[in-house]
Amino acid sequence: MTSVEERCRALRRLVERLRSPELAGDIVRRIREEVKAAKRALGVEVVRIMHVCGTHEHTITYYGLRSLLPESIELIAGPGCPVCIVPAREVDEAVKLALEEEVAVLTYGDMYRVPGSEVSLAQARARGAKVMVVYGFREAVRLAAKLRRDFVFFAVGFETTQPTVAAYLARGGLPKNLKLLVSYRLTVPAVRYVLNQPDIPLNGVIAPGHVSTITGAGAWSFLPREYGIPAAVAGFEPIDVLIAVLGILKMISRGRPSIFNEYSRAVTWEGNVLARKMVYEVFQVVDKDWRGIGVLPESGLKLKDAYSSYDARLEYNIKVSSWVDTRPGCRCPDVILGRAKPTDCPMFMKACTPEHPLGACMVSSEGTCSIWARYGGYSRLKVDEHGDLMGGAPSTRGAR
Ligand code: SF4
Repeated sequence: MTSVEERCRALRRLVERLRSPELAGDIVRRIREEVKAAKRALGVEVVRIMHVCGTHEHTITYYGLRSLLPESIELIAGPGCPVCIVPAREVDEAVKLALEEEVAVLTYGDMYRVPGSEVSLAQARARGAKVMVVYGFREAVRLAAKLRRDFVFFAVGFETTQPTVAAYLARGGLPKNLKLLVSYRLTVPAVRYVLNQPDIPLNGVIAPGHVSTITGAGAWSFLPREYGIPAAVAGFEPIDVLIAVLGILKMISRGRPSIFNEYSRAVTWEGNVLARKMVYEVFQVVDKDWRGIGVLPESGLKLKDAYSSYDARLEYNIKVSSWVDTRPGCRCPDVILGRAKPTDCPMFMKACTPEHPLGACMVSSEGTCSIWARYGGYSRLKVDEHGDLMGGAPSTRGAR
């Protein structure tokens, strides 16, 4: 049995290795070689690799990984921000509840400032609405159990956040004064949707590590099977992402698209079978609209009839008949789908900043516009023509 100190030391050694500039330089040199063969195999000038996780975009931008890579590799941010894709209609529902009903709406901090058609939950609170920020669903349950008032939890998120809520419901452990405004979305159908867009050509996908702990690496096997595209499930340290890129290039150059599980320290092929079982016991898969994008088939969840007594929409009969997903000129839907970069939006860091966000992508810490605004969208790391690092490792203490 190892002591806590020994485990902490091992963890620290792992993190140091996964942030090692020397190791990064070695992998980048191999990437520079491998990309030549990959380009030849594809017959393209630029190999386009999409990731679908806000945390990956954070790692890539914060550590300046794009600047380490040759220009013939484009790393594209895809639909990876679970807050950015919540339609204004659902924010409006939460606002309506908080303003018009005798309930307190509980929400994650990231969701708090996401704009609705007119106001965000934060702005609604300034107008007297009852809105409280919680760190997680357990806190919502604790609050409801402790206080007598009625609560509604705004249940947003991808596959990682759903099992906790499902577990409480399946075990009958929810206080009666806590209802759910379900706004869950699924990542895998969103990636399929992107791949079906002819104007978003992709050569590889970095699959999200967190989501894959639940879905399993096998959930991405449709990419090589149906689209002939390789995918790598990756962790969230810079070395994880670089190894994933190298793995994808190798699969391309060898003409053998498959699934490479780079994040095997957390992800298995099957994923968390028990968590998924609970989710599908409580929720059913339905078509859902994504903010500014439209309805994606089988891309969301709703409560099954057996759990409808927890459904805030039924309990309070909330109706929102019209809504506005994006302000004029905001390119958030294109940024979410990887059609545009934040810098393609004329309002980026002019009319739209993290302090005065106009679109959801500028609000959430996982939104691509917000990440580029905070960390520059370009490198603080540079390599010379041989792939050697110049100027040392990046600071780990925050933004520029
Ligand atoms: Fe929308 Fe602001 Fe991003 Fe432009 S910079 S796409 S306005 S969120």
